[in-house]
Amino acid sequence: MTWLDAIAHIEELEDAALEPGLVAAFERFAADVAARPIRFSTPTFKEYTSSEIKGCNKNSFPAFSITAGACALMCDHCQAKILEPMIPATNPEMLEAKVRDLILLQDLQGFLLSGGSNRRNEIKYERYYPVIERLKRDFPHL
Ligand code: SF4
Repeated sequence: MTWLDAIAHIEELEDAALEPGLVAAFERFAADVAARPIRFSTPTFKEYTSSEIKGCNKNSFPAFSITAGACALMCDHCQAKILEPMIPATNPEMLEAKVRDLILLQDLQGFLLSGGSNRRNEIKYERYYPVIERLKRDFPHL
């Protein structure tokens, strides 16, 4: 059975507009990546535990906001509330210093780099690229 045939039997996906060529391409390449581990991250600023999974150390995968708590869009459903628990990193040097400290002191394993949007629904990460590149070079496990 092809993946498209299998998907056709999943009721929840009956209205999904899938691109058959793309699904077939995913299926063709699946064997190459099947053995690769999949890592999921969940927001570490949310506390949770279930019978199958529990949260890890709060600072092992923190979220940084390059705009601190500021957002120019202020969507109705959020009003920038999602940014409140994030660690401010309003310049690249601040991000680098905080990440290096957390690696040393709190076993940081990775991080989410986020922030509020400008009026065009963009987050301008470009000036952070050199720091991200340096951190990844120095700490490839991140
Ligand atoms: S753009 Fe993002 S952070 Fe800003 S209010 Fe909307 S959802 Fe929240």
